[in-house]
Amino acid sequence: MSDTQRAKIRLHVEHPLGAGQAVPLTPDQAHYLFGVMRKGVGEPIALFNGRDGEWTAEVVEAGKKKGILACREQAAPQQTPPDLWLLFAPIKKERTDFIVEKAAELGCARIIPVQTEFTNSGRIRQDRLQAHAMEAAEQCLGTYVPPVDDMQPLSKLLAGWDTSRRILWADEALVGAAETLNTLPAGPWAILIGPEGGFSETERAKLRALDFVTPISLGPRILRADTAVCAAITLWQSALGDWR
Ligand code: SAH
Repeated sequence: MSDTQRAKIRLHVEHPLGAGQAVPLTPDQAHYLFGVMRKGVGEPIALFNGRDGEWTAEVVEAGKKKGILACREQAAPQQTPPDLWLLFAPIKKERTDFIVEKAAELGCARIIPVQTEFTNSGRIRQDRLQAHAMEAAEQCLGTYVPPVDDMQPLSKLLAGWDTSRRILWADEALVGAAETLNTLPAGPWAILIGPEGGFSETERAKLRALDFVTPISLGPRILRADTAVCAAITLWQSALGDWR
């Protein structure tokens, strides 16, 4: 493998990565690399596992349903996003997928689907959503994959909440309110976005009463939940996160 050969394909693997480390492929990965992408022995592939940064690896064995790569050098250090979680109420399938993908791209450390009173869907496919987060990281050259939790009821999550993590609550009742995020304290945060139906009066009263919750407006228009997720993460990232 010459220095000028750049790895164009990025794969997420579970295996530890380090100089000389051999990394076995899953049958799906081997099929993708050798069957679909027509890669062969000697070709460079970029690997990341969410912990050890990005490594350039070389194909050393290529089979139909198996293969081995060998790590050569670290191409990028591990980059962990700021300590921001996203709590969101799942909406329709494609839009929920979109939310997870965008949260991973924009830089969230953890994604927690929450069931609110007006949440449309009673269940989610956690494994599917986790795969979306992983693909988003693969594509946006990220080295971190945010864990996606199983859905939990908002009330239960709030009852067990570690109050050292503040919650930035996008409250649609504040639509149009003028405000600035410049005064928010630094530290761990979670953004909370409601479902298409918004939050119920009971939920709103409960959230208002919690002193670790800061309600915010996302401007003069009501946004769809998926748009609201992108807008809120963007605001937080530029005020407190790693875009500054
Ligand atoms: N059906 C509701 C809107 C829900 S929008 C209504 O008509 O009032 C979905 C979620 O996006 C909301 O629960 C909120 O978390 C967020 N959101 C959308 N627009 C917002 C805004 N202008 N300010 C604050 N939050 C907003």
